[in-house]
Amino acid sequence: MKYIKFKTGQEKVPIGKIVCVGRNYAAHAKELGNDVPEFPIIFLKTASNVIFSGQPVVHPPYSNNLQHEVELVLYIGEDVKNASSEAAESAIHGFTAGLDMTLRDLQFQFKEKGEPWTLAKSFDTAAVLAEVVLKDEYKLRGDESIFLSVNGSVKQNSSIKNMVFSPIEIVKYISARMTLEKGDLIFTGTPEGVSRVIQGDKIEAEIENIGIISTQII
Ligand code: ZN
Repeated sequence: MKYIKFKTGQEKVPIGKIVCVGRNYAAHAKELGNDVPEFPIIFLKTASNVIFSGQPVVHPPYSNNLQHEVELVLYIGEDVKNASSEAAESAIHGFTAGLDMTLRDLQFQFKEKGEPWTLAKSFDTAAVLAEVVLKDEYKLRGDESIFLSVNGSVKQNSSIKNMVFSPIEIVKYISARMTLEKGDLIFTGTPEGVSRVIQGDKIEAEIENIGIISTQII
């Protein structure tokens, strides 16, 4: 079992399900040749996919196109179903930075065949997390910068204000379809600039005031 890492506090919370939103920044949807969606596109990762900043990402041998996606991650701190805007806001107890590591070649193949993307998004070390900052410690402004570099060269550099669907809209949408529970995490999508990484590459990522991730591909 894996546990949430908090910046402060000793509470031991097992990581629940990991719900991810695709194409939530218009410029990223465009760079992959997709339209901006009318509703959030949802997929899942598993808790066993999680590693933490400082640990290495293991490149799967069955892919030739592992890519990075830096994302704001919501920490759900209470069970919520069919959330109103108020309930959605109060269910989000904190935030962190995450890397949604993606096997882009597999994803394109699955999309082409109309098959589920699961194996392009869910594999060991596919979800890299920083420590969770609780809402009591930091109030999200909504325009924090979101940044990622590979070997010191900037790849992704945007602001979370460019999200198509806000954290509250995302929690409302998901919770109307599956109950969100304490310990669940929501990856809210990545800005433009995703790129391929290979063994030996060093990734540094940061969401302003929220979290820093440092990892290496092995
Ligand atoms: Zn993503």
